[in-house]
Amino acid sequence: MASMLIAHFPNFDLAAWRWPHFSPRELACRCGGHFCAGEYWHDEGFLDALEALRTAMGQPLAVNSWHRCEQWNVSVGGATNSTQQDDCR
Ligand SMILES: [Zn+2]
Repeated sequence: MASMLIAHFPNFDLAAWRWPHFSPRELACRCGGHFCAGEYWHDEGFLDALEALRTAMGQPLAVNSWHRCEQWNVSVGGATNSTQQDDCR
């Protein structure tokens, strides 16, 4: 699995989760279930790079906003083609 949209973050098999400083929950859309079931874009290459950055920094990496579902992006006034609707690159 390289990159795919996970429709509901608890559905991800945590046995396969290898990024100790991050969790599927924090990567998921923050619409609170208003528009989606907590979807997030799972991209192993992105998560590997993020984990390496976090490890190199040696301190928490604060991210204000991760993935947004399409409806949440519209609701918060996000750009029409916002990359937050994809993976966070
Ligand atoms: Zn959502």
